[in-house]
Amino acid sequence: MQIGFIGLGNMGGPMAHNMIQAGHDLLVFDLSSDAVKVATDAGATAAGSVAEVAGSAVEIIITMLPAAMHVKQVYQGENGILAGVAPQVLLIDASTIDPLSAREVAAAAQEQGNAMLDAPVSGGTGGAAAGTLTFMVGGEAADLERARGVLDVMGKQAIHCGPSGNGQVAKVANNLLLGITMIGVSEAMSLGVTLGMDPKVLAEVINTSSGRCWSSDTYNPFPGVMDNAPAARGYSGGFGTDLMIKDLGLATEAAKQVGQPLLLGALSQQIYQGFSAKGQGQLDFSAIIKNYRQEE
Ligand code: NAD
Repeated sequence: MQIGFIGLGNMGGPMAHNMIQAGHDLLVFDLSSDAVKVATDAGATAAGSVAEVAGSAVEIIITMLPAAMHVKQVYQGENGILAGVAPQVLLIDASTIDPLSAREVAAAAQEQGNAMLDAPVSGGTGGAAAGTLTFMVGGEAADLERARGVLDVMGKQAIHCGPSGNGQVAKVANNLLLGITMIGVSEAMSLGVTLGMDPKVLAEVINTSSGRCWSSDTYNPFPGVMDNAPAARGYSGGFGTDLMIKDLGLATEAAKQVGQPLLLGALSQQIYQGFSAKGQGQLDFSAIIKNYRQEE
């Protein structure tokens, strides 16, 4: 199947790679020529612009962009996808953005006859590379069925969350919890080690006890505990602190709109914000443990 793929960063890069490996014919675009080169080296064809992807004979276009402003620009900009895409092309945005923006872009797509799904993911860069992401999908169930063959290549499950924008609602709730648990695991691991525990043994205890969570058993922030976590490579790659701040901002903004207090979410946002203000925003968000252990 010929597929357009726009946004080849930490997540989109490995997702596109899996699509190529599965035999799909990928037409890719990214502002970064380095990112495009990685994809073309793996067998993709490079497009010169978003408009070129939109105007080609693709059946599906997938986007994986940083934030709502990029998504709006890529879809609704002057030379964006909606300006040039054929009506039968299915549009899938896997970026994490606020539900209202997702609904706005999807409505504009539907107005001109294009079906669109919001399909943000969870599973991190490891899940993107392994093809084990979870897609949280908003939109028509029939359109998800059309997309399933492609989503199954990049993920282990695609859950229908309801109408347009609901994938983003699920994602916001999940990442609110993730942002909070990473700070909790950092605090607990740091305290335990400072009090004399071996970090690997402490992680083993937590991961077989009631404190266990993804931040402790898959993405432990303490260096030396896990070979494949960003903590093992100086917190490079992974899920940037600034992206976590963005997601917690989406959560606090959404909470404001419905009048719900978000006590731990707001506090966590401030903790990551303070860390970013020290020039650490590009590091993976698990580097927040540096707040407790300067040497990490
Ligand atoms: P990233 O910054 O590594 O990649 C984004 C890519 O989009 C970059 O390569 C950038 O050049 C490209 N881009 C930006 N504007 C563009 C444009 N106008 N046209 C073409 N390309 C453009 O980000 P990422 O880590 O891959 O995350 C992407 C999305 O996935 C974000 O919304 C993020 O919140 C979400 N997400 C990330 C993770 C993670 O672990 N990194 C996990 C789950 C969800």
